[in-house]
Amino acid sequence: MKRFLAFCLTVLLLAGICTAGVSAKGTETACDGNCAFYPTIIVPGLGQSNVVVVDENGNFVRDKDGKKASAFPAYLQTGKLLKTLLRPALLSLMMQRDVGLSDAFVTALRDSFGVNTCDLNANPIGPVQTEKYPYSYARYNAEEREVVNTHIPFELYPTDLPRDHLYYFTYNSFGNHISLAEELFAYIQMVQQQTGHKKVNLVPLSQGASIVSAMLDYHPEIGDCLHKVLFVVPALDGSRIIGDVFTGRVTFLNKDYLYHGFLENIRLLDAATASLLEVVLRILPDEVWMAALQKGVNYLVEEVMTRSTGMWALCPSGDYKAAAKRYLSSPDRANIKAQTDRYYQAQKRSRANIAALQKKGVQVFDMVEYDYALINVGERWNDTNGDFIIQTDSTSMGATLSRVGETLPQGYKQQNTHCTNPAHNHLSPDGVVDASTGLLPDTTFYFKNQRHDLTQHNDIILKLAMNLIAHDDIRDVYSSPDFPQFNNGRNVKNILELLDKAADVNTKLLLPSVKKELAGAVAQANEVLSKTVDTADALPNAEARLSKALVRAGAKLPEVQAPDVLAPFSAFLFKHFGTNGYSELLKK
Ligand SMILES: [Zn+2]
Ligand SMILES: [Zn+2]
Repeated sequence: MKRFLAFCLTVLLLAGICTAGVSAKGTETACDGNCAFYPTIIVPGLGQSNVVVVDENGNFVRDKDGKKASAFPAYLQTGKLLKTLLRPALLSLMMQRDVGLSDAFVTALRDSFGVNTCDLNANPIGPVQTEKYPYSYARYNAEEREVVNTHIPFELYPTDLPRDHLYYFTYNSFGNHISLAEELFAYIQMVQQQTGHKKVNLVPLSQGASIVSAMLDYHPEIGDCLHKVLFVVPALDGSRIIGDVFTGRVTFLNKDYLYHGFLENIRLLDAATASLLEVVLRILPDEVWMAALQKGVNYLVEEVMTRSTGMWALCPSGDYKAAAKRYLSSPDRANIKAQTDRYYQAQKRSRANIAALQKKGVQVFDMVEYDYALINVGERWNDTNGDFIIQTDSTSMGATLSRVGETLPQGYKQQNTHCTNPAHNHLSPDGVVDASTGLLPDTTFYFKNQRHDLTQHNDIILKLAMNLIAHDDIRDVYSSPDFPQFNNGRNVKNILELLDKAADVNTKLLLPSVKKELAGAVAQANEVLSKTVDTADALPNAEARLSKALVRAGAKLPEVQAPDVLAPFSAFLFKHFGTNGYSELLKK
């Protein structure tokens, strides 16, 4: 690369073109540090780095298709799992009691999640390797580009930022948190060296924000190297799901909830599948399932999660003391606790550290998603507003929100904790959010009904982020009518696929009326996608019309939703027989 640059330079000089500022300092950028852009480092979220399994010789373990075996969140070996579980499952079914099934379940979990365990100094000890990219996107091979684009679709939403200014910091989500913060600190210096730029942008997503937050606390001087920080759904004060799990509040360990409520409300299954699972659960007595789940959760929490300081950094500060007492009070965990105590202090100072950045002139932005209840794994899942994964208090740095589906009390007055301009209205039009109590009311963008783990399918968030990393024209939520403070969440994955389908239709063969409707539906879809201010029903309407037009054009089968016929049966069983399995019912 350097040789290639030197060659280009020679050609330019020979051609008599004066390239101001080009010096021979050995940078890898075309600008050599002299351009209006800032190198930008993405610090991705949970599981958004390739962490792969290696064998005892350090070679990649590959699956049947030749793909590297992923270690996140677990290393799944179907054959081995079947071998472990099949015999005890059959025996338990026949005997209608726990004939080794719950223990086999723990073995299966150990075989899968064990690769992510840490030692008692919180250092990962599993046979895993994190793929690192110590160079810019311009130098990524096809596989690396694919990994990055799965999480952040740069190819789909191009940014003006030159590719040799774009970096993706990878890390093991179960890794040692202090080491990760130190690694990021060094990575920033590496980017400065490679690009020739003194200041960089940081884009911490979700868990990545905990690493940035730690680095800001351990190395406040790093602020001098930053131009802009764009937080995207940041886990700055952890996730309440982890807080619940680490304080013994797991919902599905309550058997009544497991059989009646958990699956219906999990929102990852359709209703028919949820009811079917509830009915199938009863092929074994409830105590068999409960033993397996209790032992499984104990293993995962005690042996994997609470040995990882990366996971501890996702515990909200308000839950930390109780969680640490529960899982870190034994002497053998003292080294882990010393490290998590340190992050706990950083976490409590995180908002002050961010305010200090702003004082230094660093631009700080935030993107928050709300009105999506947390996944119902922790008991407090519906006590607070959230984005399915993180409570909004954490991502918004303290904004005030009603609970999901409710609004702030009538007559609620904007608190203006952090906004000093009386002309600003930081109350959301839906009456749910008071952004003025969040640390950054003027630079925080809110997206209603947006699910955290589907952020990469929200084209508006991506367009805004791609703009913010390349340009400085958007300074706050008032800079552009295209990007207001309050917007809707959306998922454009399906409509983009439908548009691809429509593009493949040979319209010459269609009847005029069918052809006309398809063209109209395509135009409507493109119109919706061209707008960055979303009205809640515009996308679903356009999607439904396009889907229907494609069905009429014979390019797609109609969607049929399986009816939830088992729901009344499952409810009947629960009402009359509680959580008993079928064999117990027969005995009665
Ligand atoms: Zn540059
Ligand atoms: Zn304001």
